Amino acid sequence: MKIILFGPPGVGKGTQAKLLVEEFHCTHISTGDLLREAVKKQTPLGVKAKSYMDAGNLVPDEIVIGLIEEVLSTDTARDNFILDGFPRTVPQAEALDALFAKLNIKLDYVISIEVENDEIVRRLSQRRLCRNCGRIYTLSQLAENQTTCTMCGGEIYQRDDDRPDAVRRRLEVYQQQTQPLIEYYKKSGKLIPINGMHEIGYVHKLILDQIYKGYKG
Ligand code: AMP
Repeated sequence: MKIILFGPPGVGKGTQAKLLVEEFHCTHISTGDLLREAVKKQTPLGVKAKSYMDAGNLVPDEIVIGLIEEVLSTDTARDNFILDGFPRTVPQAEALDALFAKLNIKLDYVISIEVENDEIVRRLSQRRLCRNCGRIYTLSQLAENQTTCTMCGGEIYQRDDDRPDAVRRRLEVYQQQTQPLIEYYKKSGKLIPINGMHEIGYVHKLILDQIYKGYKG
């Protein structure tokens, strides 16, 4: 299975990617996760990316394109992957098409998860994560004053870019730079729009229904 998961921040791409990984045993490639890992380890790439990320801006194309080239060139990822959070600009999509051609990869689907803006802002302001295992919580799933993960005991934290100013900026950036990709992928006939306003399990079911139906766009 070779899938791009597409949509604004906060629509549940990461959550749905994890469910699809369980279903298809594929490699989850999240540029956001790769960049956060680089920031945590303070690699030269992480140091460069941090200020863009904290402000809710996109990291320059050449950095993320380089990251994706590296991961997709590995044997395990090449045949079975979910791309989450990439591409986010037209130049990234063009670079990805060129990379697919070079590596002889045939993309199956672009799943576009759609959620209204008010709901996105609500979800992101309530999102908390485990620093250790990456589990995603909403505030209502945590007990009052809970600071550690129920699964692994890791520290619960809020991403800097989930704070209101950065969220507003990320939504603007999405509209200006990422949304045009919908037209780009519509033309490929591989775009599957999914209503992401439902609860997690139901959205997952909607995605699987379309995939198993062999949706032709
Ligand atoms: P995410 O976890 O996908 O919401 O990504 C978090 C942040 O990482 C974004 O707000 C960007 O600053 C950066 N980032 C992730 N993926 C990309 C990408 N494909 N292009 C540019 N920046 C990205």
